[in-house]
Amino acid sequence: MIEEKFDAIVVGAGMSGNAAAYTMASHGLKVLQLERGEYPGSKNVQGAIMYANMLEKIIPDFRDDAPLERHLVEQRLWVMDDTSHTGIHYRSDDFNEAKPNRYTIIRAQFDKWFSRKVREAGATVLCETTVTELVRDAKDKVVGVRTDRVGGEIFADVVVLAEGVSGLLGTRAGLREMPRPKSVALAVKEMHFLPEEVIEQRFGLKAGEGCVIEAVGTISRSMAGLGFLYTNKESISLGIGCLVSDFASMMESPYIILDALKNHPSIRPLIAGSEVKEYAAHLIPEGGYNAIPQLFGNGWVVVGDAAQLNNAVHREGSNLAMTSGRIAAEAIMQVKSRKRPMTKQNLALYKTLLDKSFVIKDLKKYKDMPALLHTNSQNFFTTYPQLMSQAAQNFMRVDGTPKIDKEKATTAAFIKARSRWGLVSDVVRLAFAWR
Ligand SMILES: Cc1cc2nc3c(=O)[nH]c(=O)nc-3n(C[C@H](O)[C@H](O)[C@H](O)COP(=O)(O)OP(=O)(O)OC[C@H]3O[C@@H](n4cnc5c(N)ncnc54)[C@H](O)[C@@H]3O)c2cc1C
Repeated sequence: MIEEKFDAIVVGAGMSGNAAAYTMASHGLKVLQLERGEYPGSKNVQGAIMYANMLEKIIPDFRDDAPLERHLVEQRLWVMDDTSHTGIHYRSDDFNEAKPNRYTIIRAQFDKWFSRKVREAGATVLCETTVTELVRDAKDKVVGVRTDRVGGEIFADVVVLAEGVSGLLGTRAGLREMPRPKSVALAVKEMHFLPEEVIEQRFGLKAGEGCVIEAVGTISRSMAGLGFLYTNKESISLGIGCLVSDFASMMESPYIILDALKNHPSIRPLIAGSEVKEYAAHLIPEGGYNAIPQLFGNGWVVVGDAAQLNNAVHREGSNLAMTSGRIAAEAIMQVKSRKRPMTKQNLALYKTLLDKSFVIKDLKKYKDMPALLHTNSQNFFTTYPQLMSQAAQNFMRVDGTPKIDKEKATTAAFIKARSRWGLVSDVVRLAFAWR
């Protein structure tokens, strides 16, 4: 197939793979990137919010030509029961800055753009090519890959595994375990198309401005999960994800909960009259710090979702993917510039650098993410949202009941539902899990 040897082979052309390939190629390394999809982005699913700071560190002038949808000026956090939502909204004109901080994107378009940058930087990018196996030498060092194309093996000093959450290649090669059902969420998402001006009117936006809604509550039917609605230029991304282990134990179907979300009285008017053109389902790694596998070895490093680098609590993934891809590339370049071999010992530099970054520092806060997400899910995703709604309605409904009686009724409802000790224990459990 390809006779020459490369400095690096990157498996996957998602956020992490593109970041790694671009960084190395733009510094003169000979890079081959292999992607199983028909084109970069064809297999990828994201909400999607893209965090500018992390891309700026790779391509500082990305705003000149990247396909960006809207910059975010407003975020709504909703706690929902079946008929209402209680929300915190944050909106600021400060987000209308010269270089906005967060954008909505559509991955199919964005990944194509990122891949074009990778090619312009000098890397060779081959799509419709699935890496089936890692090639090792007699000392068990990874020295290349085998693909599903005729012609067999391709060799490189180092292989960057950026193959996404399922990480079949790495697990088959025994580099890490398959992600466990309680460490991954299954998210389903639809794209609802509406005219630009309708979206702006419905969300109170000016041209180019965007708004996102993140929602928890009875919409996930007591499973640990989160719904989202993101405004793009001419579409709305609407989706919901819950832990795979919860879907299994509750015998729930993702399509049914997405349907319920679409028909919720707080969501329905926002997507009314839209045309649904796309539907997608994808896994999200949500295991937290304890789920991070070995990140480097003899001749290989692993980045992005394949390394479980995803912060489910803050809904961040693409930025951890881009940063780990960039840092892995920087470590490889340092090893190469010192004329050292790509051994496990030398590639440990990747972990050293990653440990110093926000990626690991943030994830260390969520050592056991499943424990946090499972901390009494029935209460946090059903009972408390219902109680919050009752409390808000009781507070707002003016019906001649003295305020003191309303306050007593609200307190009594919380205690009846959970008891004093139940409430205290939920707070303590949450605090412990959150450490
Ligand atoms: C519904 C949903 C919403 C999300 N929303 C957000 C959000 O709003 N903001 C955010 O920051 N993150 C979000 N994320 C997370 C984000 O999408 C991921 O963290 C990010 O895409 C990870 O990038 P990656 O490069 O590691 O993996 P991916 O983007 O999954 O890329 C992996 C690539 O590797 C390719 N590949 C796999 N195996 C092989 C093989 N053997 N050979 C060749 N190619 C291979 C795949 O085709 C794919 O292109 C969301 C995820 C989902 C599912």
